[in-house]
Formats: sequence, C-alpha cells, structure tokens
Amino acid sequence: MRQSSSHALLWGIFSNGNESPRVGLASGDHILDMAAVAELGLFNFDVSVFYEDHLNPFIALGKEITNGALSQVQSWLDEPGAGPLADPSLWVDRKTATVHLPVRVGDYTDFYSSIEHATNVGKLFRDPENALLPNWRHLPVGYHGRSSSIVVSGTDIRRPHGQVKPNHYDAPKFEPTSRLDFELEMGFIIGKDSELGKPISTAEAPDYIFGLALFNDWSARDIQKWEYVPLGPFLGKNFASTLSAWIVPYETLEPFRVPGPKQDPEVLDYLQYEGNHNYDVHLEVTLTPAGGEPTVISRSNYKYMYWNMLQQLAHHTVNGCNVRVGDLLASGTISGKDAMSYGSLLELSDGGRKDIVLKDGTIRRWIEDGDTVTFRGWMERGGLRVEFGEVVGRIV
Ligand code: MN
Repeated sequence: MRQSSSHALLWGIFSNGNESPRVGLASGDHILDMAAVAELGLFNFDVSVFYEDHLNPFIALGKEITNGALSQVQSWLDEPGAGPLADPSLWVDRKTATVHLPVRVGDYTDFYSSIEHATNVGKLFRDPENALLPNWRHLPVGYHGRSSSIVVSGTDIRRPHGQVKPNHYDAPKFEPTSRLDFELEMGFIIGKDSELGKPISTAEAPDYIFGLALFNDWSARDIQKWEYVPLGPFLGKNFASTLSAWIVPYETLEPFRVPGPKQDPEVLDYLQYEGNHNYDVHLEVTLTPAGGEPTVISRSNYKYMYWNMLQQLAHHTVNGCNVRVGDLLASGTISGKDAMSYGSLLELSDGGRKDIVLKDGTIRRWIEDGDTVTFRGWMERGGLRVEFGEVVGRIV
C-alpha cells in the first residue's frame, strides 16, 4: 500500500473487525495499526502501550518517546515505497474501522476564552451594556466539567431532560430541553503530570500539552439559564460532550502559529508569555437534518481566542492545582466577529429569536431530534495542510 507522506499523523484508538482496540495513527484515508508495527521490533521503548485501549500509557512515556515514534513513522513513510510500512497488513481503511475514545479523560475543564463569545452570551443572558463581567479581561474564566459523559465522535446523543423556567411568571417545569445547542470548541490533552502545589508557568506549559482535538460541548440553554446562578454550568452541560477520535500532536501545530489578539489591560505577570501561541485553525460547523443534506451554519477560527493554552494552563495551576496525563482542557466556544463565525446556535439564532435557514428550506433555532452536527477543522499554509479528525453527533 502506497501511503502519501504528505498527510499529517493523528493519534487515536481504533479497532477493526473482531480485533481488540489499539493505538493507531490516522494518515489520510488510512490508519496505521501501531500494535502491528510494534511487532516489527523496531522501537526501543516498551511497545505494550500500543495494545492499550486508551492513549494515556503511551502519552505518559513523555514527549521524547511520543514525538520520537512519530518522527520514526514519518521518516519510514518518506522512504521510497514506505520502507517497513509497505506491508498492507499494517494498514486499515479509516472508513471501515471503529473508533474509540482516544484518552481516558481524568479531569475536564472548560474555559470561556473567546471574547466575541463571552460578549455575545453576556448580552443575551445578562446586560447588553456591560456584557463582559469585570474579571473577564484579567483571567481566563473556566469551570470544572464532567469527564464521565465525554464520548467519542460518532456517538448518538440523547436529548436531556431537566428543570426549566421559561419566564419569570411560570413555575419551574421538568421536561426535555427545547433549546439544545452545540459549542464549537477545541480541547488540549495534558501530556505530563504536574506536582500538587507547584504551578506551571507559561514558559513550561508547552511541555505539558500532548495534543489538540475538536470538541463539542453540547449545551441545553434552557436548563443552563435557570441553574447557572450562582455556581455556574451544571446539568445543562454535563449530559454529553463529544471529543474527536483523533489527536493532533502539539508540535504538528508549530507552522500554523499566529499572534493572538492584543490583551488590554495588560495581564498579571504569571499570565504573560513569549512568542505566538494562537493557531490558524479553520473551523466549520454543518447541520444535517435526518435524511437531509448538510448546511454549513458556521465558519470560525481558533486564532480568535483571547486567552491562549499557555495562559489557561498557567492560570489553572497557579494556586497549586495539579494536572494529570489525559486531562482535557477545552477552549470554550470559539466565535469570531461576524455573524457567520459564531460557534453556537445561541449566538447564531440570537438567543432563539432568529431563523437559521437550511438548504432544504427548513428552519432551525435550536437542534431538533434526528439532526446531526459535524465539526471540521484544518490548517493550511504554503502547500502544507493538516486536517483535524471530525466531531460528529446525532441527536436522538
Ligand atoms: Mn463550553
């Protein structure tokens, strides 16, 4: 099998037929079976990690090993005929393979780091005049989410029930959410344990980031609106979140670095950083009704983030809170300035007041049963293109 060496390599967990889940490297339309590659005896580390059904033990070996394995595979692919990887039995068709949750997520934290999103939501939920709360430009606001309900892309999502209070005069009711939404996000996976009591500086932060993936933080806006004061998101968020099956290694993003927005006022010392740490990742959301065709409803970009990953990690640990391999830190909804770039229906439909017209002429303000929401992401520069694994979820 001739594999093009131009595809980026993404880590994940897959299974094929009756075989047990194992580590794979996605490359274009194919997956390299790393457990099978391990059998060749060409790696000089403990390859039992490739037979695991989650990436954590592999990630825990550290960047020297994980990036070393990646460059080794890449250099074989660059050889004429793909060297030892020419054997077709090492490769699996991506379309027929089953994907699994790539990491066992220990703790999941969700930030709120897009200034456009925070402003839009502030206007809708609170005060149009003072949309951003006073703390917002001083620290990356976040909350602790729930990891047990994180599912892999392709998993159906059940519409949650909960307490809602449609208006001031009604008593609270218990019913299925009628304001089901997605949140277009990217998450990064922690690649190294930190020590309790020891903050991670922005300079040290890159050592702790294994890779990134697209992430859908499904949200029930009616449940959220009634429950969130004073302690923040709870049941309106934790019924499900969908993670891509494929993780893009942090170092793969290097050529796509761009400057972040200017932060004003100047941030405190522990949030300052050197260099460019925003990334030009094109993002697209499509909504597909049952049996219908997909309509692109949002085009955004990860580069819009006001707070970057280094600042998020430095802030998360500045009080001594530790992180562990496999933790997931998500960006928060990624919105841009123009109305097509909003990363949630809450913003796209202006709080449920505006119609979103799909290709078949039907109208959405919130997600309906049978709808499939798909996120795609890619980076492109000078002929180099890296595609993130998609995030797909259908509401049932
Ligand atoms: Mn979120």
